[in-house]
Amino acid sequence: MLQVKNIEKYYGNQNNVTKALDRVSFDVCDGEFIAIMGASGSGKTTLLNCISTIDTVSAGDILLEGENIADLPADRLARFRREKLGFVFQDFNLLDTLTIEENIGLALSLNHQDPGKVQNQVKAVASKLGITDILEKFPYQVSGGQKQRAACARAMVAGQSLLLADEPTGALDSRASKNLLEIMTGMNRDMGATILMVTHDAYSASYAGRVLFLKDGRIFNELLKGQRNRSV
Ligand code: ADP
Ligand code: ADP
Repeated sequence: MLQVKNIEKYYGNQNNVTKALDRVSFDVCDGEFIAIMGASGSGKTTLLNCISTIDTVSAGDILLEGENIADLPADRLARFRREKLGFVFQDFNLLDTLTIEENIGLALSLNHQDPGKVQNQVKAVASKLGITDILEKFPYQVSGGQKQRAACARAMVAGQSLLLADEPTGALDSRASKNLLEIMTGMNRDMGATILMVTHDAYSASYAGRVLFLKDGRIFNELLKGQRNRSV
């Protein structure tokens, strides 16, 4: 599904180079829930930005479903992101002027899908996540937990291949964090979502089936749930 091959990322100029990623390689299989863990400055955001096509790598390749994202022409990137990638942001990023239904269906509408079809897809995913009764409401009219569910619904409504979450629990208290992680676990286990989550928090990472540890831009360890960690 996702192949990250020997990627490197440098920032700066000839006099002052920061190596943010140093020969990072890993694969994500269909249906996996994988966490990338590391301290601040270890390269997590850079890695996620490269995978999400927001930033470009200095060397190496990233393939999503066999397609090298470096080869995508600039005018296809926005569409590629909407079709292939779902995002769960720290603050959920729901738009206040749109209903929950419109928020969830936004990427589909922007891709000029037929409104009736959009509505059907939104209803299907909303039903799976238990938020059918709030579709007509605006974000400020629903609870925090419902907003979480709406953000998760938006991230997979189009059948996106890969769901990317950047410190999704970073702004939440422990109860809300647990809720969100359980929703994400359900999406992975029951709805087939493939999830890549970046976090500095061991509790969040404990929900993933596999954890990659990033340090100074390199993967230095890998932990598979139920197994002892092995150095790589
Ligand atoms: P995170 O959201 O992962 O905490 P930040 O975006 O706050 O990461 O930045 C992480 C590190 O990267 C910080 O040490 C910050 O100083 C550095 N950084 C971020 N953007 C820049 C930049 N444009 N130039 C130099 N350093 C940057
Ligand atoms: P994390 O998300 O794990 O906090 P980052 O990916 O933000 O780490 O940063 C990795 C390294 O790259 C850090 O040394 C950071 O200072 C540097 N860095 C990140 N963004 C920039 C940037 N835009 N310009 C220069 N250096 C950057």
